[in-house]
Amino acid sequence: MLPQDLIASHFRLDLAHKKALSRLRIHTVRDLLLHLPQRYEDISSIQSVGSLVKGQEAVVFGQIGGLKTRKSWKSRVPISEGWVEDGTARIKIMWFNQPYIAKMLTDGMYAKVAGVVSGSDEKLYLANPEVERLDTLPIDRHDSLFNKTENTDETIYPIYRETKGITSKWIYHTIQKCFSQGILDKLEDPIGEDILKRYHLPTLKTALLWIHTPKKAEHAVSARKRFAFEEVFYIQVSKARERALISVATSYQINTEKKHLEAFTSRFPFPLTKAQDKSIKDILTDFAGRHPMSRLLEGDVGSGKTAVAATTAYAVATSRPPEGSTAKIQYGNLQVAYMAPTEILAKQHFESFIQYFKHLPIQIGLITGSGCFKFPSKTDPEKPTNISKAQLLKWVKNGEIPILIGTHALIYKSVEFKHLAHVIIDEQHRFGTNQRRALAKKDKLIPHLLSMTATPIPRTLALTVYGDLDISLLDEMPKGRKPIITKVIAPSQIEKVYDHVKEELQSGRQAYVICPRIDEPDPTKENALQLKSVKQEAERLKEQVFKNARIDILHSKMTPKEKDTVMEKFLAHEIDILVATSVVEVGVNVPNATNIIVEGAERFGLAQLHQLRGRVVRGTHQAYCFAVTSKDSTGKSGKTLERLKALTEAKNGFELAEYDLNLRGSGDLYGMKQWGLTDIGMDAIKNLKLVEAARNEAKALIETDPELKSHQAVAQMVAKIGESLHME
Ligand code: ADP
Ligand code: MG
Repeated sequence: MLPQDLIASHFRLDLAHKKALSRLRIHTVRDLLLHLPQRYEDISSIQSVGSLVKGQEAVVFGQIGGLKTRKSWKSRVPISEGWVEDGTARIKIMWFNQPYIAKMLTDGMYAKVAGVVSGSDEKLYLANPEVERLDTLPIDRHDSLFNKTENTDETIYPIYRETKGITSKWIYHTIQKCFSQGILDKLEDPIGEDILKRYHLPTLKTALLWIHTPKKAEHAVSARKRFAFEEVFYIQVSKARERALISVATSYQINTEKKHLEAFTSRFPFPLTKAQDKSIKDILTDFAGRHPMSRLLEGDVGSGKTAVAATTAYAVATSRPPEGSTAKIQYGNLQVAYMAPTEILAKQHFESFIQYFKHLPIQIGLITGSGCFKFPSKTDPEKPTNISKAQLLKWVKNGEIPILIGTHALIYKSVEFKHLAHVIIDEQHRFGTNQRRALAKKDKLIPHLLSMTATPIPRTLALTVYGDLDISLLDEMPKGRKPIITKVIAPSQIEKVYDHVKEELQSGRQAYVICPRIDEPDPTKENALQLKSVKQEAERLKEQVFKNARIDILHSKMTPKEKDTVMEKFLAHEIDILVATSVVEVGVNVPNATNIIVEGAERFGLAQLHQLRGRVVRGTHQAYCFAVTSKDSTGKSGKTLERLKALTEAKNGFELAEYDLNLRGSGDLYGMKQWGLTDIGMDAIKNLKLVEAARNEAKALIETDPELKSHQAVAQMVAKIGESLHME
C-alpha cells in the first residue's frame, strides 16, 4: 500500500461508499489519512448501563426503544417513557409533563443520554434525561472498551465528519487498517525537520498516529497544531510565491507631481483624513517603483476608500514620463480600470468619479452588462451620455478613455486597453494574478493593483489570505460623522422600535429590516419557528405595523437585474422600507436610509452586524441600528445580549472581527466559508504566533527555492490547497 494509491484498490467499496468518499474529496490513501477527526469523545465519562447506581449523574450511549406516552394514573400527569440500551443492559427513561418528547424521538435511534439515575434499586430509571441524537455510536457496542477494565488509558475516541453512506466508524476502522499495513513508514513529510524542531511540532507519522488514535488528549492537541501550521504554511507559500513572481515583473512607473495632486485633492469638499493621506502616499511610493504594486486598502464602510481610489486614478491618468526617460511607451495616456461587484455600485462609483473629475479633460467610461456610458457628453459637459459598447471599446482601445469603471464586464475578452497601468478592485477577494494578467491582455507590463475591502477580518486571517498583498489601513473615520446609535433589543421591546421608525418615516427617512431567512420557515426544522423570513416579515409589517409605508424585498435568490431594480427604487425613495437578507451588506449607498432593524441578531457575527450597520452611517441625519434578538433576554440568550453589547463598544469592524474569532469560535466568523479554510485552518487563525511562524517559514522557503524545485512535496500540497481555496 502506498500513499498515492486509490482507496478503491485496497478496500472493497460499495457505491454508497464511493459516492460519499468523492463528496468528501477522499480518493487516495493519503487523502483518507488526512481526513482528520472533527472531535473526540472521551469514553471515560461514559458509563455502561449495567453499572449504573441510584443517585448517579449518568451519561450513556445506546439505542432508544419502547417509546410511548401515557398519563400517570394517580395525578394524570402526562409521562413519556422508553428505554436506552447499550449492549450491557437496558434502563428505563422517563419524562414527566413533557408528552411531546416521545414524539420527537424515534425507536431504534442512537443517542447520548444524560440524566440522574432515580427509582429504586430494582427499578432504576433516568429522570428527565437530555437526549442527543447520534448518527452512530462512538464505539461498537461490542467493543471491549465498553466493558472497560481498570487499567486502560485509551479513553479518547475520534469522531469524523460523516456523510451519507459513510460513518465515522467506517473511517476509523479503514484508517486503522492502513496503519496496520505500515503506511505511516511510507509517507514523506513535506515539512522539514528543522522547522518541526523550531516549533516543537510532531513529524507527519507521529502526528497522524496521534490525531487518529490519541492515547492522551495532549497528543491530539499537539497533532492538530502541526496540521494547523501545515495548512497555513501552504497557503503562505502559495502567496509568497505569487508575491515573488509579481515583484520581479515590470510595471508602468508612475510619476506624480505633488502640486498637481494637491490641486486635485484640495477640491474635495472635505479634508482628507490622516489615514487617507497615508494610504495615498503608500500607493504613490509603490507607483514610483518599476514593479507592480499589490496593495489592499482595508477600511470600514464610510471610511472614504473611493476618494483614495480617485486620487490614485488621477495620478495614473496624468502621469508623465520621468525626466530624461527613454521609455518607449507614450505616457500621458496610461489607463485605469475600476471594477465593482454589482452594477449599482459600478454606477455609484461612476457618479462619484464624475464629481471628482468633472473639472478636468479626463474622460470616464462605464461598462456594465446592461449598457455603456461616457462622461462628459459632447452636448452637455456636465452630464454623462449613453454610448454603444462598440464605441466605448474603441475609445478604450485607442486610449482616449483613460478611466474605465465597470462590473465583471470589464474583464471580458472584448475589452482591450491601450496601456492599462492600474487596476482597482472593490470588494472582490478573489482577484488573482492570472486575472490581472488577463486584464492587461497582450501588454507585457503588469498593471498595479489596488484591492479595496470593507470586510472586517482578523489580522491573522488577513496575513494569511492576503499574504501576497501589502496592506494600507483606513482605521479612522472622517470627522464630523454622527456616531450611529446602536441598541440591542429584546423582542418584547419591539413596539418602541416600530414607533421610532414610524416617526423617522414621517420625517422623510427610509429604513432597512434585515431577516435571517428568505422564505417561510420550514417547521420541520428545529429553531425554524423563531426565525423571521424576508417574505413573511414584509407582509406582516405591511399588514400590521407600517400600513402606509411602501415596502419591498431584496434577497440573494433574486436575479442581479431584479436586485438592481429594487435598489434603484430604494435609492430614488420609491420604497420606504426594504426588507432584506444580509445581501445588502456590500456597498450600496442610500444616504436617506437611516434606520436598520436586524431581526434574529444573535444569528449574525458581530463583524457582519457591523457591516450591516454600515449601510446607514453615511447620511448627515442621525442613524440608528436596532439589533433585535429572537428570544427574550432570559436564560441562554442573556449571554447573547452580552455579546451583542460589544457592538455598542467596539471602535471598528476589525475589533469586532477579533471578538468574533475569540468569542464565537472561528466556525462562526463572518463569511468564513468563503475563504475555503478547513476547520483546523480556521483554528490556526486564532493563533497569531502560529500564523507569523508559518509566514516567516514560507517567505524563507520561497527566497531560497522560489520554484519549489527541491521541495516537491510542498509544491504538491500547495497545488492541492490552491484547488480548495479557489483563490482566483
Ligand atoms: P467607503 O470606504 O465605504 O467606500 P466612500 O468612499 O463611499 O466610503 O465614502 C463615504 C462618504 O464619505 C462619501 O460620501 C465621501 O464623499 C465621504 N468622505 C470621504 N472621505 C471623507 C473625508 N476625509 N471627510 C469627510 N467625508 C469624506
Ligand atoms: Mg466603497
